[in-house]
Amino acid sequence: MSNKYNWPVVGHDKIKNFLQNSIEKDNPAHAYLFHGCQGIGKVEIAMLFAKSLICLKQGDSLPCNHCRSCEQFDKLVYPDLFILEREMNEKTDKKKQFVTVNQVRDLQEKINKRAFLNSYKIVIIKEAHLLNKESSNSLLKTLEEPTQKTIIILVTDNKEAILPTIISRCQLIKFQPVDSDSIYSYLVDEKQVDRTTAKEIARIVNGRANKADEYQSDSEKFQNDKQLNRDLLDLLKKSLTQRFATVDKLIRKGSTIEEVNSLFDKLIVLFRDLILINSENSNLIVNIYLENELTALAKSLSSKKIVSNINILEKAKELVQKNVNSKLVFENVLVYL
Ligand SMILES: [Zn+2]
Repeated sequence: MSNKYNWPVVGHDKIKNFLQNSIEKDNPAHAYLFHGCQGIGKVEIAMLFAKSLICLKQGDSLPCNHCRSCEQFDKLVYPDLFILEREMNEKTDKKKQFVTVNQVRDLQEKINKRAFLNSYKIVIIKEAHLLNKESSNSLLKTLEEPTQKTIIILVTDNKEAILPTIISRCQLIKFQPVDSDSIYSYLVDEKQVDRTTAKEIARIVNGRANKADEYQSDSEKFQNDKQLNRDLLDLLKKSLTQRFATVDKLIRKGSTIEEVNSLFDKLIVLFRDLILINSENSNLIVNIYLENELTALAKSLSSKKIVSNINILEKAKELVQKNVNSKLVFENVLVYL
């Protein structure tokens, strides 16, 4: 069956088979919750699943990418596709903190109307954890009384933040990070990346296949991110005054929660690499191009200290998510690392 489907996303074979099977049997669920960490292909698979359902050809290559529905889908103007994501706040020019209840109500009005085409109406809710209580409760009504031929796909990297009542109405699909061997083969075989770079990318993306695509198409971005990891590692060797000066450079006024938390994530990965080195598993580290520096640092830190540092960073991420001043949080963290 897998030959028929044209879903160019690395990994997740079981999930792809499962969803493709439901297309074959024409029995998709009313609601799905795609969960798992960021950047591993959840939204991409949701889109391919949706597009395959509405493709007019239903032929040997699904989706066909050429029929009227597929073309409208690609331009995001397919009339029965609804993508719900945070709106922009016009005053600040940043995304709003939550998906608002008005957006959910607006969506409900649209899906309650007759379908434009005699096919599925598909709703994809990106960042479903950013539905606040009011919008969640409003959405719940739709999930409790599903409209025929409407499929709602909620996507999240933070399932814990979703109301249990919503979760219980969805078919849960857990996405695992993609293994580095699959990413490596994909880069070498399909993207013609040289083996050394492919190995570095496959490791550094740490299971996030989307990131691998980004790095292979934008080598400057890849080099910059490598440098950033190097800078973060250097930060740990500096005095407190020097550390604070670096924070000034790393966090600017316009830095978003996502940007700040991605710095914490990078630090967490560096500390995990240190644990791997200390437990004689250095063949598994993510930042292979920093192996010498990491090995030197690993000698000076006990495993207990490293684990405590990871806990401090996890806690910091939670604070930033709650909108505590990110620069203060970062400075505070650096006192303890
Ligand atoms: Zn098509």
